[in-house]
Amino acid sequence: MAKVRLGRTEIVVEKNGFGALPIQRVNMDTAKHILRKAYKNGIEFFDTARFYTDSEEKLGEALSDVRNEVVLASKTGALNAEDFWKDLETTLNNLKTDHLDIYQFHNPPFCPLPGGEDGLYDAMLKAKEEGKVRFIGITNHRLAVAHEAIDSGMYDTLQFPFCYLSAEKETELVEKCRKADMGFIAMKALSGGLITSSEAAAAFMMEYDNVLPIWGIQREKELDEFLEFVAKPPVMTEEISALIEKDRKELQGEFCRGCGYCMPCPAGIEINNCARMSLLLRRSPSEQQLTPEVQAKMKKIEECLHCGKCKTKCPYGLDTPALLEKNYKDYKEVLAGKAI
Ligand code: SF4
Ligand code: SF4
Repeated sequence: MAKVRLGRTEIVVEKNGFGALPIQRVNMDTAKHILRKAYKNGIEFFDTARFYTDSEEKLGEALSDVRNEVVLASKTGALNAEDFWKDLETTLNNLKTDHLDIYQFHNPPFCPLPGGEDGLYDAMLKAKEEGKVRFIGITNHRLAVAHEAIDSGMYDTLQFPFCYLSAEKETELVEKCRKADMGFIAMKALSGGLITSSEAAAAFMMEYDNVLPIWGIQREKELDEFLEFVAKPPVMTEEISALIEKDRKELQGEFCRGCGYCMPCPAGIEINNCARMSLLLRRSPSEQQLTPEVQAKMKKIEECLHCGKCKTKCPYGLDTPALLEKNYKDYKEVLAGKAI
């Protein structure tokens, strides 16, 4: 087993964390079974959010009797103090606990700070004083907000996308957190499905002793893969290193990570999948992407209003409408018989 220390929180947990966003999509019994199996086999860190519908409830049902043996992190998307308190109470009820180990501001467009007009940080501090929150965290997709959070000295943890396809700017954040003695929680460690080798993804994470990846797990089969890494942490071999290099070459440049922060789209386009269809077609079984249902979703691109809303929200600075068009053109060619 490999352990990771989350900076000054002094929380030390198994290197593989559980990302509880996908368990929204399975029923309560399946979710309980998966979560319980994860816990029994050594996973100690569980990350959820108020925004993930019933994910918190499922965690509460599965793990409340072992509450003190696990580390629970949740998030609030509140933008004012009143909503912050509502979210916190709901989350604590759902998780059947009286405290969160880490409570994170969920991808706020700004960095909440003490004395801020929004009142968010002051509310968080009060929650900490009341013992409802042990440590204060922030999650984000924007480099500027992440830097401000680290520089402020007001945060114990940062959650940010990080994987072997990340750019140097993200790696700089990891190092900056190390210097600031903050925990770094890596989301999107499989880059929204574009990384197909979980072993390579996990071996990459082993190179960073201050990074805790949280793997989004929905199926028992996926859990089993990560449990193998708990039992026997993967090491960077020449073969894995070559695969990473190959992926980096193939995916270099501007590509959609599938994060969905540009949504909703007023034309109803499922941007987070449609804008990376060319990659999905080639990196996962292509039949899954050629069903009538997916074809209908791709056809919606024709209804793009070119309002530009998606483009302004994309944290990777992508020209989303142009990317949609490019992917749609390729998709139509594939449908017409182009070899992939
Ligand atoms: S530019 Fe097109 S894809 Fe983007 S939000 Fe507007 S309608 Fe949706
Ligand atoms: S276009 Fe940008 S914001 Fe939208 S899903 Fe892709 S990476 Fe995320």
